[in-house]
Amino acid sequence: MIYWDHNATTPVADQVLEAMLPFLTQRYMNPSSGYAAARAVRDAVEEARSHVAALAGASPGEIIFTSGATEAINTAIKGIRAMTPGRPVLCLPTDHSAVLQAIVGERGAYPDPAAYAGVDRQGRVLPGEWERETALQPAGASVTWANNETGVILDAAALVETAHRHHLPVHIDAVQCLGKMPVDIAASGAEYASFSAHKLYGPKGVGALYVRAGVRLPVMIFGGDQEQGRRGGTENVPGIVGFGEAARMALAGLDEAAAMCERRDAFERGLLASLDDIEIIAGQTDRLPNTSNILFGGCTAEALSLLLEPMGLLCSAGSACKTASPNPSHVLTAMGLDDREARSCLRFSMGRLTSGADVQEGIRIVTEAVRRVRSVQSSRTGPVTVYRP
Ligand code: PLP
Repeated sequence: MIYWDHNATTPVADQVLEAMLPFLTQRYMNPSSGYAAARAVRDAVEEARSHVAALAGASPGEIIFTSGATEAINTAIKGIRAMTPGRPVLCLPTDHSAVLQAIVGERGAYPDPAAYAGVDRQGRVLPGEWERETALQPAGASVTWANNETGVILDAAALVETAHRHHLPVHIDAVQCLGKMPVDIAASGAEYASFSAHKLYGPKGVGALYVRAGVRLPVMIFGGDQEQGRRGGTENVPGIVGFGEAARMALAGLDEAAAMCERRDAFERGLLASLDDIEIIAGQTDRLPNTSNILFGGCTAEALSLLLEPMGLLCSAGSACKTASPNPSHVLTAMGLDDREARSCLRFSMGRLTSGADVQEGIRIVTEAVRRVRSVQSSRTGPVTVYRP
């Protein structure tokens, strides 16, 4: 089976599991307890913090462990709003649902909770709109550095700089870039950033919030003095240790990005050579080295996915968090694709273990699936859609 859904989640690396296991068995002590065995557990948490900070370009004291990126994002965005109540938070219509829903989730309480700056067909922010919206003095802004569906990488530092000219605090959703490309969150200038372990071969249910040194952020989870009093609750020690090990490995493997990019490009070239009427989404801009989002004219993503799984390839029609939604991807429609186009796109996200042989096999499988779907439709029937009662 070829697993090309690494933007949804990655397998836990063997070394990560090995690092975690002792903290599920012999080293179970509460890191806040006073005896030496517990202090050793605390040291392991702090070592993990140093690894995550090193990968993110932060200082260890700026990293707060959370239950995942969704919690980190909610903490940052609700904090931004609490510090300037009554003002909207500026974001992008292509942001992850964790960002969008953290902003609009309390619609009743905030009649106009979100402000948006549009993007073009390549997923790039329209600079005039970003400038105009930041000048309107929202409470703050949030930017997704690398998009989970298209892989589009934004110039986060430039967007932060514009927002700072208007004295706005900025949160960066850096979930998809951490481990896939160099991240220097300090150099980006952002006040806050969110990360997740399970996108970089760490465990699920653990993430981190970056709060730049000296920057204020209200506490959202009370209950103890853990995480310097900024996030109460007994730490998920095995998860944090796993995150640390995953970050250490990712830092050592960052130079594999070029080879990953070659495999991704070979996949796209292979499909372009064997199929007509396909489009590489955001193919003309900077993208994550592992991500291809492809529009297959005349095929619904749903029909293709149904064929691809039994043929031995797992991929996604969009964000894993929105699989249950009947609507087309909000990311693709925000980029200007119409409803039919957005429903014809599949995301392939390769991983560390993807080989050249997988790429050739992937080209073969996808080509065959597209030909099969196209062969059961005529120009009169239009794209094949799957009926789900
Ligand atoms: N932001 C982006 C861009 C993501 O891809 C994801 C995960 O799908 C999240 C946020 C949420 O991360 P988590 O699963 O750790 O809550």
